[in-house]
Amino acid sequence: MGIITSAFRTLVDFVYPPLCLSCNRLLEDESDLCCAECLSEIPRLSSEHPLFIASRDRMRSSGVVDDLVSAFVFEKTGGLQKIIHALKYQNIEAAGTMLGHFIEKEIAARCIVPSLLVPVPLHAAKQRDRGYNQAEAVARGIAEKAGWQVDAELLKRVKNTRTQTKLSFEQRQKNVSSAFVFRDRNVPDLHDATVMVVDDVITTGATIVECARVLKEAGATRVVAASVALAAKDSDL
Ligand SMILES: [Zn+2]
Repeated sequence: MGIITSAFRTLVDFVYPPLCLSCNRLLEDESDLCCAECLSEIPRLSSEHPLFIASRDRMRSSGVVDDLVSAFVFEKTGGLQKIIHALKYQNIEAAGTMLGHFIEKEIAARCIVPSLLVPVPLHAAKQRDRGYNQAEAVARGIAEKAGWQVDAELLKRVKNTRTQTKLSFEQRQKNVSSAFVFRDRNVPDLHDATVMVVDDVITTGATIVECARVLKEAGATRVVAASVALAAKDSDL
């Protein structure tokens, strides 16, 4: 780091010291975003966790999602809620990359090799407001180390769906029905492909199921849903 850059960094740290997104304690490494203690307190998912089993079964019953990978349990309060909030509403896109690294570890542990990662698209108007798609930030974090391919342009959201809070799986399915199409007429050959559809938090899974349906109709061999966290259906998300 040059002297000027270093001096500028010191000034920025003085005015905006790097604080943990969850507990506001000063971070030693500014690239961390969240302290190790807060991260260790976020409840983890395993393939035996009841929420994981219920979510995977619900999505599998659609016939278009084959498997699920997810790292954390989403709770209404706590560290993860604050990090996701920062990612979605405070313009901290780097939080997506950090969270993506946790999913990548789960994928590696499960020996899944995605051919392509497809983030759940936002409606263009919403993406304009936010400045980026948070699911794409997560997908890029997953793909970073392994060098997997991310295609954020493959699908397009054509319906700006109303908020899904308090809707059941069936109501959500209706809400997102026909919400996604391929952006281009030139759909890539997805035969033999394991496509991973990535979102920040999955509640019922209806949105991912709808993306998976479009991908399967185009011939994708296997669709795996991936998310930072799973939320119980009664959480206000
Ligand atoms: Zn902390």
